[in-house]
Amino acid sequence: MRAFTYERASTVDAAVKTAASNPNARFIAGGTNLLDLMKLEIETPTHLIDVNGLSLDKIEVTSDGGLRVGALVRNTDLAAHHVVRRDYGLLSRALLSGASGQLRNKATTAGNLLQRTRCPYFYDSNQPCNKRLPGSGCSAIGGYSRQHAVIGASNACIATHPSDMAIALRALDAVVETVKGDGATRSIPLADFHRLPGDTPHIETVLEQGEFIMAVVLPPPIGGKHIYRKVRDRASYAFALVSIGAVIQPDGTGRFAVGGVAHKPWRIEAAENELPGGAKAAFAAAFADARPTEQNRFKLDLVERTLGSVVAEAGGLNNEI
Ligand SMILES: Cc1cc2nc3c(=O)[nH]c(=O)nc-3n(C[C@H](O)[C@H](O)[C@H](O)COP(=O)(O)OP(=O)(O)OC[C@H]3O[C@@H](n4cnc5c(N)ncnc54)[C@H](O)[C@@H]3O)c2cc1C
Ligand code: SF4
Repeated sequence: MRAFTYERASTVDAAVKTAASNPNARFIAGGTNLLDLMKLEIETPTHLIDVNGLSLDKIEVTSDGGLRVGALVRNTDLAAHHVVRRDYGLLSRALLSGASGQLRNKATTAGNLLQRTRCPYFYDSNQPCNKRLPGSGCSAIGGYSRQHAVIGASNACIATHPSDMAIALRALDAVVETVKGDGATRSIPLADFHRLPGDTPHIETVLEQGEFIMAVVLPPPIGGKHIYRKVRDRASYAFALVSIGAVIQPDGTGRFAVGGVAHKPWRIEAAENELPGGAKAAFAAAFADARPTEQNRFKLDLVERTLGSVVAEAGGLNNEI
């Protein structure tokens, strides 16, 4: 690990000003992703700003009946919160499917959204990787790509985003609230928060240098059956091969986002119009532009069948898969 300096932030204002003025500074929250990356020298910040002392660990009902989740709310606390369990079950289930109890006790809402890919080449500094070292190439293209993206990828990178929580937040139309070094604030729909890789896979979100996540806001509850189905190589402590976060209404309409398939949570709203006609049609519409590799073509069958199973579980009609 490279040497770095460390400070505990006492105000958001001071934290964002320091981060905005120093491109080599990073915020640290639970540290469960950043510290691993620093030990491997994949991330090499020269200064860490510990934000754990900031009072951003509250979950509050908003004036319109939604929910505001502070950036530092731990994954365990968010999953267990009575309003989340009652009204946003999809989010609770997605969180509980991730990592382990110990990790969830440390991991924060903001850190979870910003966790980096699990592409094995990203972690192996002997291998070319455009995300780790822009311009060096992509070892996964033509290499081992079983876990990689089947849609939305580019010739520069075919990595997937690993967060389970982000899939639920995308399906629930969450909005990320941020503040920048100059004090300006933004509300970024989760749909626009993560980027597809394009030619710059090292730029993973629309956040600017030093921009700080204050909270994630959920709109008022939408009812329906909330299902998170994660398919993985072993039953726990593993990232998704594919996952589906869905809210299905009694009349068979609904919404779904898919994990493990793209560089960001994959949701095509137009495809959801097909849901009452069956999972097969909805899958076909959402994955019309899929470009799998030989090794991960199976993920498309897996998504189609998993969506079928989710619709069936919700009591939806015409589950023809
Ligand atoms: C063994 C293992 C298994 C795992 N399995 C899963 C899994 O199955 N599913 C899953 O979804 N996740 C899984 N994870 C990932 C885990 O969920 C993330 O590591 C965790 O959520 C990151 O949160 P953190 O608070 O520790 O982030 P940190 O490591 O502290 O930070 C991560 C990034 O977020 C930035 N950051 C933190 N807070 C802010 C803020 N407020 N504003 C701006 N930037 C900020 C940091 O600068 C850093 O770049 C696993 C992790 C491990 C180690
Ligand atoms: S898929 Fe992306 S993260 Fe993986 S090796 Fe290629 S560029 Fe790197």
